[in-house]
Amino acid sequence: MPFPTKFIFITGGVLSSLGKGLASAAIGALLESRGLTITLQKLDPYINVDPGTMNPFQHGEVFVTDDGAETDLDLGHYERFTHAKLGRNNNFTTGKIYHSVITKERRGDYLGGTVQVIPHITDEIKQSIMSVAQDVDVVIVEVGGTIGDIESLPFQEAIRQFKSEVGKENVLYVHLTLVPYIATAGEVKTKPTQHSVKELRSIGIQPDILLCRTDRFLSKEIKSKIALFCNVDVDQVITAKDVETIYEVPLVFHKERLDDKIIELLNIWTRAPKLGDWERLVAKIKNPRHSVTIAVVGKYIHLRESYKSLNEALCHGGIANDCKVSLDFVDSETIDESSCGQRLLAADGILVPGGFGSRGIEGKIGAIRFAREKKIPFFGICLGMQMAVVEYARNVAGMEGAHSTEFDEATPFPVIYLMTEWFDYKSQTVQTRDTTSDKGGTMRLGAYPCTLIEDSVAYRAYGRKEISERHRHRYEFNNAFKERLQQSGLIMSGTSPDGQLIEIVEIADHPWFLGCQFHPEFKSRPMDPQPLFVSFIRAALDHKKQKAIV
Ligand code: GLN
Repeated sequence: MPFPTKFIFITGGVLSSLGKGLASAAIGALLESRGLTITLQKLDPYINVDPGTMNPFQHGEVFVTDDGAETDLDLGHYERFTHAKLGRNNNFTTGKIYHSVITKERRGDYLGGTVQVIPHITDEIKQSIMSVAQDVDVVIVEVGGTIGDIESLPFQEAIRQFKSEVGKENVLYVHLTLVPYIATAGEVKTKPTQHSVKELRSIGIQPDILLCRTDRFLSKEIKSKIALFCNVDVDQVITAKDVETIYEVPLVFHKERLDDKIIELLNIWTRAPKLGDWERLVAKIKNPRHSVTIAVVGKYIHLRESYKSLNEALCHGGIANDCKVSLDFVDSETIDESSCGQRLLAADGILVPGGFGSRGIEGKIGAIRFAREKKIPFFGICLGMQMAVVEYARNVAGMEGAHSTEFDEATPFPVIYLMTEWFDYKSQTVQTRDTTSDKGGTMRLGAYPCTLIEDSVAYRAYGRKEISERHRHRYEFNNAFKERLQQSGLIMSGTSPDGQLIEIVEIADHPWFLGCQFHPEFKSRPMDPQPLFVSFIRAALDHKKQKAIV
């Protein structure tokens, strides 16, 4: 018998960074493993309309969906853990909600009413949740921020109201809290959880399931104590224990019978979970036969969150090669063209990721030259590809002073530039932009098709000619220099179907040197690794073996 769409709301207490995004993704994976169709949505309390305009130091990676939405990095977890098809409507911020309400108010939609947080903002939030509820069995909604914060109150109020609108049997509240082990006392402490749940209940939400983040399995006594103080049954208190690899989270949740409890409380009948793929994946990650080290030369190296999808994609490329991938983050500000030292030489592969701004740019170019000349496998992504073109132009094609106009507007050789007019496939229109255009949402964003030439590293990696990858950049390869660079040996192995946009460059006579204008990391999944990462890690492994022989 079909059942109405069910909703799971996930809130967080005590402090941030407890892994609410991963917990949501893992719940999605467990429900999918039982044959349910799911989707996930993130509600973020900040006022930016999307995270696209935010500095990665503040907010971590901006994840891009196929439809070109710039979203919270938790959507990356959702896509890596599940098959949910995510887009613009899977991430709402306070800014986006207010933007929509204010637009309606200006249009006169509220017919003279006073526009207020309750009901207008909360109604808008509820509609946003409903907008992803078609054609799925379960909607999992992660509410950003921590219970007790002022700024996420409208979201919390909206999810409270939601229950009476769709029926209490269709809604489940999951609360993630911290149960710390206090070494001096020699025991775990439940008080932060008690207070967080008290706070949640004060705004009218009684959690159904408590996910207790901790470094050890909670005893029956501790669970009973939490259950008593927080007004839940003891089997609704779940240990969310620290794990060795994030891909183990669905398995440890399952061991704690979280998925059983969810379907029981939501009154859903499903088949037994099939978790064999996850078990095999985790076993592979934990016991790799090989290992490589990749030097990642970038600006945001101090914050791993800034390159979340990239780190995961490299790990996935490793899994496919039975290989552990260690990352050596090299701050591009600390190296210049002449001083790329031992660290790069010690690496089995060099990767220059995407980025914005001129800081550390010469260091990146220096690292690329090093990789090219020393024949170390090199992977350039977005800005990394652009700088590979600059490096080649300067040092091989004789274009002294070549640069991207992002960093040098007066360069004699603007090999990377702001394309002011281009044909956009998605909208089938001619698009324009200049240096004065708005910064928010105006980049080339989302999935674009790309055609590969057959005799290329890219084609060998993908095994097909037509591919689609996601973009997020403003600057492009300048076709005015295409012929000259080609004559000097730069290979344009991937272009837009009309040949106008250069999407991939390679060089011959090098074990593996590839730069792509898109971000391949966004589409990589642990069980479906992105082909370029698989191929790059294989090349790094080969390079390591070669080094050992010499
Ligand atoms: N800053 C470059 C551009 O806007 C590259 C962006 C990126 O690496 N994502 O084109």
